[in-house]
Amino acid sequence: MSTIQQTLEKKIVQKVETGSINPYENAMKQLEIAARIIKLDPSIQEILSEPKRILTVSLPIKMDDGKVRNFQGYRVQFNDARGPFKGGIRYHPNVTLDEVKALAAWMTWKCAVVDIPYGGAKGGIVCDPKNMSMGEKERLTRRYTAMIGDFIGPYRDVPAPDVYTDPQTMSWILDTYSQMKGYQVPECVTGKPIALGGSEGRNNSTSRGCIITAREAAKVLKFPLKGATGAVQGYGNAGYWSAVFLSELGVKVVGVSDSKGGIYSKSGINPAKVQIHKDKTGSVVGFEGTEEISNEELLELDVDVLVPAALENAITKRNAPNIKAKIIAEAANGPTTPEADKILQNNKVFLVPDILANSGGVTVSYLEWVQNLNREHWTEEAVNAKLEEKMVSAFKSTFEMAGRYNVSMRDGAMALAVGKVAEAIQKLGMWP
Ligand code: NAD
Repeated sequence: MSTIQQTLEKKIVQKVETGSINPYENAMKQLEIAARIIKLDPSIQEILSEPKRILTVSLPIKMDDGKVRNFQGYRVQFNDARGPFKGGIRYHPNVTLDEVKALAAWMTWKCAVVDIPYGGAKGGIVCDPKNMSMGEKERLTRRYTAMIGDFIGPYRDVPAPDVYTDPQTMSWILDTYSQMKGYQVPECVTGKPIALGGSEGRNNSTSRGCIITAREAAKVLKFPLKGATGAVQGYGNAGYWSAVFLSELGVKVVGVSDSKGGIYSKSGINPAKVQIHKDKTGSVVGFEGTEEISNEELLELDVDVLVPAALENAITKRNAPNIKAKIIAEAANGPTTPEADKILQNNKVFLVPDILANSGGVTVSYLEWVQNLNREHWTEEAVNAKLEEKMVSAFKSTFEMAGRYNVSMRDGAMALAVGKVAEAIQKLGMWP
């Protein structure tokens, strides 16, 4: 079977498994709910139902074997009423335009919830980075940057890493963009290595922020986290650091997983040691002293705190009734479908929604951009203190909003965010 056929096959299997869930439809359902709550002007809702700009680019790349392959890339700029577009770039075989649109919408709400002066965007390339060499990934990244180069920039649209992209990818974007301009523009991208103007604390800021929100949720519930149990789905950047920070709060992490499967140990696992095992073997599976479990079993473990940190649609109406966690902090984007949301709410699960829970990453991206624009470099303590302040404040505003309208934290966060974006659109007025 050819690579393209295999990718198509995988997509079909995934669609069947997730019940054909379209993330953009989910994002729009969430918008509709928020619009109803805040009685949003229908004309503003209409504006917010479509991205401001969609770029689709074709990326011919010379592969290491000398053959040329053509990749499809996207950059979706959802809304910039509150500031320059901002959002990560994902490399994954299952990237679709609707997924990128949904992620761009969520970025818009996320920046509004955590109150940083950005709009929302997202990028994606349909590719399988696990089966590409560094050289192939570099050529793909540089070609993509050149193709979207006229539409990005420090005051236009500032990309960052997402699934299977990292500081190295950001370095190639920075270099390509700067070569095109003729001068160094470190503020055109965030999530860079420290040597190129990256911020201290950026590498684990998403998870640091996520676990701050889990801690605030536990405070509201008057539930002590010390001695509680936790599980983390996905063991990449967001998942690994979430496990570390949960452990630091005294939570016993009993299960973690990645795309190859999950592991469980009643007595708890050491996140750093699991990472060393994953670096050596390519997966968390097989870590000594643990039993192998499926991803489905991981989500349904009898734990107090659950952190989905993989991809969309992990928690659906199928498995939501079996989830036992008291607190879910969504490190991933869109891990819970709207139908599952309702089930979790009825079951009194305290869910910290993605646009709040994982906003620590974009918050420190914003701090990185501010440092770059001012040619400054702050200490990790200074960055983490600002992050803590932003996360606690955003949690409080969301909790108050949820209380005011007697709705879930997701609907409270959406109502808060959509209200802010709508106000900015109204104040800007229409041109022409
Ligand atoms: P990553 O590429 O570092 O890690 C992704 C992890 O998910 C890998 O361990 C992979 O094996 C695992 N995975 C993939 N499919 C899986 C499956 N079906 N079941 C279990 N695990 C699976 O990516 P990341 O940066 O950690 O991003 C993870 C999620 O967090 C994404 O939804 C991303 O959008 C979100 N997020 C990340 C950041 C950030 O700063 N890294 C910021 C905000 C949101």
